[in-house]
Amino acid sequence: MLDTSYRTAYNEDHEAFRDTVRKVLSEHMEPYLDQHEEEGVVPRKAWKALGEAGMLCPTVAEENGGLGLDFGFNCVLAEELAYLGTSAGFTLQNDITVNYFERLGSDEQKAKYLPGMISGDIITAIAMTEPGAGSDLQGVKTTAIPDGNHLVVNGSKTYITNGQNADVVIVVAKTDPTAGAKGTSLVLVDADTPGFERGRNLDKIGQHSADTSELFFQDVRVPKTNILGGEGRGFIHLMEELPQERLSIAVSAQGGAQRAFDEAVKFTKDRKAFGRTVFEFQNTKFTLADLKAKLQVGWAHLDWAIARHLRGELTTDEASAAKLWHTEMQWEMVDACLQLHGGAGYMNEYPIARLWRDARVQRIYGGTSEIMKEVVSRSI
Ligand SMILES: Cc1cc2nc3c(=O)[nH]c(=O)nc-3n(C[C@H](O)[C@H](O)[C@H](O)COP(=O)(O)OP(=O)(O)OC[C@H]3O[C@@H](n4cnc5c(N)ncnc54)[C@H](O)[C@@H]3O)c2cc1C
Repeated sequence: MLDTSYRTAYNEDHEAFRDTVRKVLSEHMEPYLDQHEEEGVVPRKAWKALGEAGMLCPTVAEENGGLGLDFGFNCVLAEELAYLGTSAGFTLQNDITVNYFERLGSDEQKAKYLPGMISGDIITAIAMTEPGAGSDLQGVKTTAIPDGNHLVVNGSKTYITNGQNADVVIVVAKTDPTAGAKGTSLVLVDADTPGFERGRNLDKIGQHSADTSELFFQDVRVPKTNILGGEGRGFIHLMEELPQERLSIAVSAQGGAQRAFDEAVKFTKDRKAFGRTVFEFQNTKFTLADLKAKLQVGWAHLDWAIARHLRGELTTDEASAAKLWHTEMQWEMVDACLQLHGGAGYMNEYPIARLWRDARVQRIYGGTSEIMKEVVSRSI
């Protein structure tokens, strides 16, 4: 169990919520982790179970049908999901997509989507990346060309989290392909709109239970009112959400790193070689001591970043630095902890194997470590 006794970002309400989260995850997620991995998707009934327990989109304001809680509650869930070792896309909905709907949506859009996002009946995705454009989002080729009161969407997206499950997708598209970033808009496409098609649920190294997919749009007609947050303002809105998105990944990186460490401690105290436990070798103790120091620093830093974000002060470069540091630390942690398992670490039956393969992408998605360095360097 994640030790939270020394945390500073949370109050009693957050910790009470954590108890609920643990109960719900142990009943509705933990027994099915392998099944989710094999099926390559987390079934809707799990989304519904989290929704019923108030664990989806808890930040949505009461007037919009939500609990009106702060982002700390999202972080509690993200930590527990990462510690459990699932790659389910709940945090994408809680920490990323819901803000676009609540902050930018019209009253009609909010009424149409938010209640279902909270209950787990509506699963969302955000589609920025394309086969030819990832880090450089200005190179997006998908278009949403105005035609009377409609937009006609054409293009393809790839690596989209929740892609198989998604009921509605926030599509980053050019409403004016001649205007660069200023011609980019966020367009809502419901999955039952003619011309929208899901492609492959992609075959990945890890995060097998996340249904990361290709999406295709061929002459998809949507009303112009499906633009979220104003025509030509897509890029600005994407930038505004960066601090929270990057903090969210940092939170799950820290949770995953802690689990890897705890697994290594357990394993090395049990495993024997040369007449003693593996833990007793000086190399093991020093490695674990070094990693423990990093975890201590990591949790302190994370609490600082969460507290800053709760006050609305976390900047994009601070959040980018957090994503950079925590995901790089997570990778170092899972690799060292796998090594301490010996051959067992390479066997999928041990949790460390999944923690290791799931961690690798954390340094890539949500902006690569190189892009994080670019962003941080601009603030120097
Ligand atoms: C499992 C998974 C889930 C994802 N989920 C989503 C999702 O839900 N929605 C979505 O829109 N996208 C998603 N992505 C896409 C992800 O955000 C991109 O893969 C990522 O931003 C990198 O873009 P790219 O793959 O095009 O790499 P590229 O941009 O082609 O990068 C290739 C290499 O070049 C480096 N590079 C690029 N630009 C620079 C630079 N200026 N300076 C130095 N180095 C540079 C990169 O760091 C990298 O090492 C997901 C990806 C994965 C793998």
